[in-house]
Amino acid sequence: MTRPSTSPPGLADNYGRVATDLRVSLTDRCNLRCTYCMPEEGLEWLAKPELLTDDEVVRLVSVAVTHLGVDEIRFTGGEPLLRRGIVGIVSRTTQLRPRPQVSLTTNGIGLARQAEALREAGLDRVNVSLDTVRADTFEQMTRRDRLKDVLAGLEAAQRVGLTPVKVNAVLMRGVNDDQAGELLQFCLDHGYELRFIEQMPLDAQHGWSRDTMITADEILEMLGEQFGLEPVDAATRGSAPAESFTVRGGPATVGIIASVTRPFCGDCDRVRLTADGQVRDCLFARTESDLRTALRAGAPDAELADRWRRAMRGKLPGHGIADPSFLQPARPMSAIGG
Ligand code: SAM
Ligand code: SF4
Repeated sequence: MTRPSTSPPGLADNYGRVATDLRVSLTDRCNLRCTYCMPEEGLEWLAKPELLTDDEVVRLVSVAVTHLGVDEIRFTGGEPLLRRGIVGIVSRTTQLRPRPQVSLTTNGIGLARQAEALREAGLDRVNVSLDTVRADTFEQMTRRDRLKDVLAGLEAAQRVGLTPVKVNAVLMRGVNDDQAGELLQFCLDHGYELRFIEQMPLDAQHGWSRDTMITADEILEMLGEQFGLEPVDAATRGSAPAESFTVRGGPATVGIIASVTRPFCGDCDRVRLTADGQVRDCLFARTESDLRTALRAGAPDAELADRWRRAMRGKLPGHGIADPSFLQPARPMSAIGG
């Protein structure tokens, strides 16, 4: 099949990177309140008219896939399973040609109920966020008593073949940092692939501090000896954000996404679309490019693709968390689409 001609093709920035991996936020709402993400009372949610409709989401995803060379789509949020049309959106996305890889990042609540339909819609994989397997710590971190639902969601994902099932975990000092080994053992026992994500300054409450975050080095020190961790050849990493380590000679692995202490911005191939139709070239970007207005004004695909390409040219070489001048973006992680 020939790709429609575009000039220049793809989402290139001024530093030689080309974005092919699109993260699409389907909602900014959530049914958990993870302390590293949002405050107890939640946030001021986007109003319905601001949100892209299901048709609008699919239209923009289709522009990305058929005009801009995007070959991977990940639906996220907020909590993407709260989006009523999610199965239809996934189904229409997997029917695009060239067929993109389609995955979902979710907190797992409601996955037990929806896993089968999502699989039938063509979903390839899921990442489920789980920071602890202890009910009391789960409630402390998410402010909700929903551990059982998450565990049921993980099991359902495995059962219907949304594999490899990946688990994302954030460690917080004095909260769950003593449970890293327990969580890894749980994932090994169940055949889930665990990845620790360094806590980033993206919480709505601005509570992040470099001095208290748990670093990749600390995680390796905690787990290295007990689990016989050995780095997987860096050459196989490509643009993947996780550094991988085999557990006791393999084949099981554990990943560490060290966005703060070992940034991988030079290899970044990501671009993001918010639930209200704004392109963000980086999680930490302080500017966005509006596609929704042009879309609603009836712009043809070629114009939307041009706007999207232009939006990428301003992508900065790095997130600059280490710079004294670093400023957290106005949108928190839950509204960007993590
Ligand atoms: N609600 C879904 C979930 O939790 O998987 C999807 C959205 S959530 C924003 C995506 C991922 O971002 C989750 O794995 C979550 O743990 C992670 N996350 C949220 N806030 C973070 C922070 N401040 N630092 C690092 N990771 C964070
Ligand atoms: Fe919700 Fe995900 Fe944020 Fe937790 S990390 S509050 S599950 S959006």
